[in-house]
Order: sequence, then C-alpha cells, then structure tokens
Amino acid sequence: MKIIDVKADNLTIPYPGEVRPAWQPGLVVSSHNFTLVRVTTDEGITGFAGTSGHVAGTVLGQVRPYLLGEDPFATERLARIYRHAGSGLWCIDMALWDIIGKAANLPLYRLWGHYRNRVQAYASAVEMGTPEDRAELALHYQALGFNAMKLRLHNERIADDMEFIDACIKATEGKMGFMVDANQATNLPSPERGVVWDYPRALRTARELEARSVLWLEEPLSRYDFDNLIRLREATEIAISGGEKNMGLHEFRWLIEQGVYDIIQPDAAMSEGVSQLRKIAAMAEIYKRQFVPHHSMSGIGLAAALHLCCIFPGTTWLELMYEPKTRTIECYQQLGGIIESKIWIGPDGFVAAPEGPGLGVVINEKRIKKYAV
Ligand SMILES: [Mg+2]
Repeated sequence: MKIIDVKADNLTIPYPGEVRPAWQPGLVVSSHNFTLVRVTTDEGITGFAGTSGHVAGTVLGQVRPYLLGEDPFATERLARIYRHAGSGLWCIDMALWDIIGKAANLPLYRLWGHYRNRVQAYASAVEMGTPEDRAELALHYQALGFNAMKLRLHNERIADDMEFIDACIKATEGKMGFMVDANQATNLPSPERGVVWDYPRALRTARELEARSVLWLEEPLSRYDFDNLIRLREATEIAISGGEKNMGLHEFRWLIEQGVYDIIQPDAAMSEGVSQLRKIAAMAEIYKRQFVPHHSMSGIGLAAALHLCCIFPGTTWLELMYEPKTRTIECYQQLGGIIESKIWIGPDGFVAAPEGPGLGVVINEKRIKKYAV
C-alpha cells in the first residue's frame, strides 16, 4: 500500500456564543480554528487527522512531499517527518493509524490489544465562570450522567478559588468527582494578566483541594519547574498531573522517571504521535503512573485518546471538552457536522470504544467546504 495524496484544509467553525478560555484571561474566542488532514492510499483507504490552528500550509509544504509514495504502515520511520515539522503536525500519525485499522478492518483498540472497551469520562469546562454558574454547570453535567468535572481555578486568592469548588461540591451533594486545572504550565499571551502561582501558592492550594477530596491538580507550576513539581508531589497526597504540551519521548522520560507527575497527560497532536504515546503509556505503566491523555482537539483526536485509554492497564479517564451553549460538542468535537459520529457517555458516565475500523470516526467530506478558509 502506498500514500498517493495528503490534503489539508484550514477550517473556521463559528461557536454559537463567545468563548472565554480560562487559560488566557480576557481573551474572547468566536470560532474553532482547525486543520483537517486527509491521507489517501492507492487502495482507496483514507485516514483522517486534525489539530487546532491553521497549519495546512505547513502540512502541504513540509510533510506532504515526504509522505507521497510511502507505505502508511511505516509509522516509526515516518514519525521523524512530523517531529521536525512542528508540534501540531504529530496529528498526521493518527491518519496513518486510521488507515492501518481500516486495512485490518479492526478498531485500533482491538488491533493494539486492549485492557478495557469502556472508559470513564469527565466533563472538561473551558471557562472560569463564577461559583454560581459553575455549580449550575456541575448539576448539568451530573444530570447528563457525568461522574466527574474539571474546573479551572484562576483567582488571585485561594479562598476565592475554594468558593468555586465548594459551590460545586454542595450543588452535587458530594456525589460527583472534581478535578482542578490551574493551567500554570504555559503562560500564553493574553489581554489580561492572569494569576501566576509559585511553589507556596501551589502547595497551599493543593492542601485545600486535598481536604476536599479533589481527584487531581493539573499543571500547578511552570512546565519545566521539575524541582518544585517533584517537591509538591512528595509533600501532598492529591495527584499532581500534567504533560499536555511536553514534547518528545525524552521529556516524558524525564517526567516519569523523575516523579514529576502522578498522572501523565500527553496529547496525540501536540506531544508526540499516537505511535509514541503508546510507548509513553507503557512507561507510565512500568512506573505505576496514571495515563490520562489530553483531549487532542476534535472528535478525531478524541477518538485517538479513547483508543489509547482502552489499551492502558491502569487508571485512566477520557477528557470530554464541553461547555454548553458556547464550546459545544457540535462545534468542538464534531467540527460543525464534518464529523458525523459522536463520542459521548452512556448513562453510567462511561464512553464505549468506537467499533468502526481504524479510529472509528465517520467523516462527511462534503461538509468540509462549508468551513474551509
Ligand atoms: Mg489542561
């Protein structure tokens, strides 16, 4: 089998409302900017991939020429192409695995050898909001069947942060699990200056969250502040998590071997490709860490994350990004209807593995032109 074409489209999918991502204070986002990649073979199989942002030019200029004529099964050799093209370009490895699974007529989790075929999911909120609206949101998630929710804490004062958590715990009568993302690993440019945590702030917050049985504290400190992350992990009982924008097998080796995080969260578009994330999962297993992949930016990446969760023989969760009315499932996961399949929880809060071949994502290519820019 040979790769005969690589297509890449920059898409702009408008959100139904303004989105205010908590990790960039003051920023208002009106659309989901995305790059959809299609890899086709001489046997008529198409593999799909995608990442956030508009990087079609890089895909076509720096990746396509090196993939044409290649065997899509050569995932390890082709990995070096995306490694040198840029972080989001790792998504293309997903398309090759989509092709391999379709050629084998097997969903990837079965092809790889699975541990489970259902994964517990948590609702991942985007905005910081207010204690009142987060409590309402927690109730909404709970009514849908979610067993857990991730909140974003970005207040100047710890006491204000705790108001958010306490409001949610109270509203859901202690029957829901909560995770907290501090988004401190990267200081993205933003219109307003956000709060920046140092070690004492992270430690005091971790202790408060521990007392509230919060499941994990994500990215409490800067990405490469390994010394303080290790200190924090050793000084507290709450699980410390991170890794969504760490890059390369070598960085995950550092994170796991040095005990930087209890929970490793690589992303299948940004950190490394699916092929490499399987190795990171294996290393997490050996060191008894949890492996909880980051959501990977659309229904395509989410399917990759779900298959990876299924093959991990330890504790894992699937991150379902969903903010009702703004960052909706239709816009964010389904790309305005380009993706016809939907990854969603059953009544028990678990997501079933996709049973279609490859990633198991159903794409309507006719809808691409509606959002192509
Ligand atoms: Mg995060």
